[in-house]
Amino acid sequence: MPKRVLIVGAGPGGLAAALLLARAGLQVIILEKQPRVGGRTSCLEGNGFRFDLGPTFFLYPQVLEEIFAAVGRDLYQEVPMKRLDPQYRLVFGAGGELLCSPDVDRMEAEIARLSPTDARAFRLFLKNNRVKLEKFAPCLQMPFEGWQDLVNRRMLAVLPHLKPWRSLHAEMARYFRDPRLQLAFTFQSKYLGMSPFQCPSLFSILSFLEYEYGIWHPIGGCNALTRAMARVATEMGVELHLNEPVLEILIQNRRAVGVRTATARYDADAVVVNADFAHAMTTLIPNHLRRKWTDETIARKRFSCSTFMMYLGIEGTCEELQHHNIYIAADYRRNLEDIEQRHVLSEDPSFYVQNPCRTDPTLAPAGHSLLYVLVPVSHRHPNIQWNQERNRFRQLVLRQLERIGVRNLEPRIRFERIITPDDWEQQMNIYKGATFNLAHNLGQMLIFRPHNRFEEFDRLYLVGGGTHPGSGLPVIFESARITSRLLLEDLA
Ligand SMILES: Cc1cc2nc3c(=O)[nH]c(=O)nc-3n(C[C@H](O)[C@H](O)[C@H](O)COP(=O)(O)OP(=O)(O)OC[C@H]3O[C@@H](n4cnc5c(N)ncnc54)[C@H](O)[C@@H]3O)c2cc1C
Repeated sequence: MPKRVLIVGAGPGGLAAALLLARAGLQVIILEKQPRVGGRTSCLEGNGFRFDLGPTFFLYPQVLEEIFAAVGRDLYQEVPMKRLDPQYRLVFGAGGELLCSPDVDRMEAEIARLSPTDARAFRLFLKNNRVKLEKFAPCLQMPFEGWQDLVNRRMLAVLPHLKPWRSLHAEMARYFRDPRLQLAFTFQSKYLGMSPFQCPSLFSILSFLEYEYGIWHPIGGCNALTRAMARVATEMGVELHLNEPVLEILIQNRRAVGVRTATARYDADAVVVNADFAHAMTTLIPNHLRRKWTDETIARKRFSCSTFMMYLGIEGTCEELQHHNIYIAADYRRNLEDIEQRHVLSEDPSFYVQNPCRTDPTLAPAGHSLLYVLVPVSHRHPNIQWNQERNRFRQLVLRQLERIGVRNLEPRIRFERIITPDDWEQQMNIYKGATFNLAHNLGQMLIFRPHNRFEEFDRLYLVGGGTHPGSGLPVIFESARITSRLLLEDLA
């Protein structure tokens, strides 16, 4: 009989692990709370519009491409994709715009328009980060289980590039003198839910990845990736149970032996948790059984920001917008401090708007298009009562949209859905509504992040944004490779 593995959650991490474990000959069962697959990478549909719920930027498809290849499939056949150029339009509250292109000559010319003396720094930034990524990539591909992993030869080789004492913003200020350009190459730390003024300098590889390997739009949206993974997994014999929330992970003698749902008990040789780490720990395993990751310890950890979301189906198109558009507040530092330190709503918040029908008309009915609006805000905090703030903040966001040229939008809205940090927690089981999981400060990365082979119980594993290497699709897929490898080693 093949060994049986249960996966809690059909997010991108859980689905990628399912593919790899099924390929290795294990019996794999996924138990998913929602009626659909994909988790934060699923879709939201209504009135003929299809929105990505969460991810809209697909960076570095190489990892998923290799996972598909490992199960005998071609990612680009399963999910057609388009590389975007321009990648995005940046509008600075402080004045000026940048149309960011992966074409090095064009990008240099764009930078020169803002700040002629900074143009040459772009190639140097690419060159240095090429080396940095090459050195750091092996650390993203290996598990971190103890101090010996931190002081091994690979890590020592990375150390001069890591510069743990320097923030991402300070690092980019060494390349670019114009403060707007410093932001153009650091705002990407928001993909991890962090401020560039706090985020480690290591993460300059994020903006590098965009320019070097591209920003991709899967046709149908990023949710098309998880739908394709689920389709392939079921074709390979993976059992997928939707609408089946796990209520408890069963532990005997400090070993995971199965799970309990409302309707059944499932026994297994191993359990993989893809559900949000902090939420799953604090709800699925009794506190008295946990020694390291107790409820009290988890509550003291640093968490990423959350997001206020507006999904708008509109009549007509927004010609003034590119596919991806980002507005950076005039006082960005203050905006970030509102989010991370004061936990209040900003009066001039930064935001991101996706206008995907420009590339992919399949997402809206004829004569219509859609806008996906994401505003980074504090994770849940007593300072912000969303049931009182929701409508006021919606109006403020509609006014903010005018800053990037979207005027008179309200009469054209034909579909609208809002998600607040409360909804992320209550409907999507995300601890504190912190959409990008535990923060990615150095004290919560590598061996300090919850381990892929979970350190508290035998035969319990983690996959997804809550474990090593961290949040964001490419590294989540990497976590699936690391976790599957460890699990297969243990089950021999
Ligand atoms: C608004 C937003 C925008 C983002 N944008 C990007 C982007 O552009 N690019 C990028 O790379 N990343 C982005 N991310 C980050 C990240 O890539 C996604 O959040 C990703 O989906 C996280 O994947 P995951 O594998 O950790 O699991 P999740 O997507 O969190 O899935 C976990 C699954 O577990 C299920 N579950 C939870 N509890 C239970 C239970 N008790 N029983 C059974 N099932 C359960 C959930 O329903 C869910 O389906 C974004 C995230 C958000 C929220």
